[in-house]
Order: sequence, then C-alpha cells, then structure tokens
Amino acid sequence: MFKYSKKLESLPPYLFLEIDKAKRKARSEGRDIIDLGIGDPDQPTPDFIIKALNIAAKEAANHRYALDQGMPVLRNAISGWYKRRFNVNLNPDIEILPLIGSKEGIAHFPLAFLNQGDLSLVPDPCYPPYKGGTILAGGRPYLMPLLESNHYLPDLNKIPPSVLKKAKIIFINYPNNPTNACASDDFYKQLIKFAVKNKIIIISDLAYSEMAYDGYKPRSLLEFEGAKESVIEFHSLSKTYNMTGWRSGWAAGNSELVGALAKVKSNIDSGIFSAIQVASVAALKGPEEHLRSMCRLYQERRDVLVNGLNSLGWKVEKPKATFYVWIRIPLKSDSINFAARLLKEADIVATPGVGFGKYGEGYIRMALTVSKERIKEALGRIKNIS
Ligand SMILES: *Cc1c(COP(=O)(O)O)cnc(C)c1O
Repeated sequence: MFKYSKKLESLPPYLFLEIDKAKRKARSEGRDIIDLGIGDPDQPTPDFIIKALNIAAKEAANHRYALDQGMPVLRNAISGWYKRRFNVNLNPDIEILPLIGSKEGIAHFPLAFLNQGDLSLVPDPCYPPYKGGTILAGGRPYLMPLLESNHYLPDLNKIPPSVLKKAKIIFINYPNNPTNACASDDFYKQLIKFAVKNKIIIISDLAYSEMAYDGYKPRSLLEFEGAKESVIEFHSLSKTYNMTGWRSGWAAGNSELVGALAKVKSNIDSGIFSAIQVASVAALKGPEEHLRSMCRLYQERRDVLVNGLNSLGWKVEKPKATFYVWIRIPLKSDSINFAARLLKEADIVATPGVGFGKYGEGYIRMALTVSKERIKEALGRIKNIS
C-alpha cells in the first residue's frame, strides 16, 4: 500500500531472519536450545552500577531532558578513563560526545559527511550498521574484504584510485566482530597515513577494547601519532559492563568530527537519561576487578569451546579478544545451511557468517554467552552430528 523510500529499499536483507524464525519455532516446541547466536552478555550488570542508577533515578533533577552533549561529569569521567587506559588526552568539552549506545552514533555519523553517491569504505564481513548507516545517509558502501589470508585486515592498497576519490569515510573495528581479529600497530600506522593522504575520515569502533585474553591489551587508534587529524573512535559500555539494554556509549577524537555528530544528533534525540549517565560514571570509575573477572569468565569458556571443537577435528583458532569464535565450516556447506543443520540436529544456534556480508560466507560465528556447562553440552551434541 505504501511505497518505501529508495534508501529503505536498498538496505541489505536481514539474513538472520530465517534462523530467528527457526529458533523461535524450536523453542515453542519445547526443545532445549543452546543459543550461541547473539553477542549479548548473559551476566547481569554489576551491582555497583545498579546501585548508582537507583540513587540517581530518585533525583528529580535527573527526570528532565538531559543535555544533548551529555553531563559534564560523564564527559570528564570518559576523559579520565582515556587518560588512564590509553594515556590519551581528550578535551571533555569538544572531543567527547556521549551516545545512546554506540550503534546510534555509528549509524548517524555518515549523515554528517556523506552526500548522495559518496562512498564509505566498509569491511566485509562487518557489524551491520556500517552499511545501514551509509545507505540511510544516501551513500554507498564500498566493500573491503576481510580475508583470513590477510589476518582479516582490509588491504588498503587494493582500493582503486577512482574509489578513493569518492570515499569520505572508512570503518574499522578491532578487536573485530565477527572475526575476532585484532589490529597490529603497523596496520594502524598505515591506516592513519592512508586517511591523511586521501582525506578520508576514520571511524574506529572499539566496542571490544576491554574484552581481551592472555595478557593482550587492545590499543586505541588515538594513541598513534597524527590520529587526531582524522579519527573518531566509538566506545560502548554494553559489552564491557554487561549493559547492552541500558544504551550508553560515546564518541571521542577529532573535535570537528565529534562536533558534527553532535549537530546531527541534536536534531534527532535529546540525550541519554541522566540517571543512566550517572550510572555510566560509576561504571567507568568502578573497580578494575570487574573487568578482570569478566575476561576470566570468557577466557575459560573460550578454552572449553575451542579445545572441544579442535578435538572434534575442526580447525579453530583461539580469539585474543572479543567473545566471538569465528569458525571455518568444517564440511562442504554454505553458512546458512550449516547453521540450519546445527539447529535442526543439535538444537544449537550459531550465526551464519554470510549474515555479516558476502565475505563471511564459509564461516559461522559462535558467541561465548552461555556457561561452560552448556558449552560442554553443545560440544557433546555436535560430536553426535559430525
Ligand atoms: C555490540 C557492538 C557495538 C555496541 O553497540 P551498543 O550500541 O553500544 O550497544 C558496537 N560495535 C560492534 C562491532 C558491536 O559488536
């Protein structure tokens, strides 16, 4: 009855739909589903954060419209966190912008810089809002394949000059969802040179900076020389503090880029609920022990899952970071059919790689968001089908 806009119509199809439907159906039949499909922490938000919310929620001053640019106390806490964590100095007034979750900021950012027909350079496979945000802003994604043979880093030298002329933005995400790859210092240095030379804005998505194992500490792109000329970095409390439902994140970096996003957002939303901003301050200033125990938990699950799959003859590498295991499908099957088979024959949900883009074909992603015991149960079931 209604005609959708061209932009809406050109959004990529939602390929997880079939799996979602099958999962709901299996659950409704009373089957015992082990869901390794979603990247959403299973643990509760730490108590000290909930307590801070409780107190702040009772304050009448927090019930009114929040400041678009976020409370000064939150921007200061973010600036302090950057200094402690990365030794990067950020001016809380102009280089930091709180967001209603980082997805919101990532998806809105292209509106500030893309004109009709402009390109953004998008890794493939990737977190879907990079493509969606580009298309909704009237731009077109140019896909940079992330290949196992190149450690899932985009090959910047392969991008043709004609594309570079029209490209305004490059999206980068390390530690990476879905491949769990991490960026080397050399790659980041090369990336900054590339961006300056071609006048391209770097969007660096650091949602997983705190979720790393075996002593590895992911770096911020802003630590590197010259980065502030062209980088806006996105962070999220979602995965780090088990706060996906709360919607709290931020952008940081070049003040013009941060300011442009603030201008877009001032026309769309009216800030984060102030009580959540106060609780976010508590999270960022909270005990480091929370982060250590979170990483321990996922590391143990990682070891159980990866060792278990390898003992079944699969060839899976241990992630250094993120809570995703990225798995080359061990037999001849495309990713949708393999995921469907895991669900049908083992009551296990995994995400087909092609759902993150065509270069994700041939892989599935499993998230470490169920207990060790359930992972062991899943391994037993997989053994029976493979
Ligand atoms: C989960 C995730 C985010 C975070 O999203 P929020 O909107 O902050 O909850 C951002 N980027 C990637 C790659 C993610 O996986």
